[in-house]
Amino acid sequence: MEAAAAERWMDRALRMAKEALENGEVPVGCLMVYNNEILGKGRNEVNETKNATRHAEMVAIDQVLDWCHQHNKDPSEVFAHTVLYVTVEPCIMCAAALRLMKIPLVVYGCQNERFGGCGSVLNISSANLTDPGEPFQCIAGYRAEEAVDMLKTFYRQENPNAPKSKVRKKECNK
Ligand SMILES: [Zn+2]
Repeated sequence: MEAAAAERWMDRALRMAKEALENGEVPVGCLMVYNNEILGKGRNEVNETKNATRHAEMVAIDQVLDWCHQHNKDPSEVFAHTVLYVTVEPCIMCAAALRLMKIPLVVYGCQNERFGGCGSVLNISSANLTDPGEPFQCIAGYRAEEAVDMLKTFYRQENPNAPKSKVRKKECNK
């Protein structure tokens, strides 16, 4: 992996994360790169689609599958040589999906302390599982500060709607 190229891809992923943030989504952006070409990209679109599984990585996987279909390529061959660049550590669900697609390498920004599947909560990426796919390698910490700043901004915005604050309000009215 060439550092300058990785920096360039991560920059694009961060721009997508920013777009997610501006649209009221968890700010995660990602790209799937094969032979120096972007075959799939995604940002979190859970709220927009009202579908809790539409994480950035899932959106990107579907785009790569579409590309393979359109270009008559074998997805297993393509995914085996694809690198995922993502602003936040993939969650448990996405890490399992990446294993099943047999993506060999994930470059990511900040840790995902709530749901991380590459070490933070569980270690799906390198777990010794007999059947589900292949383990993948992770390179963490690329532009992590910018990625975590966006997450903090998002969760700060979300807080006023949390049930806890409503309870407090009621108590104050007594
Ligand atoms: Zn995920």
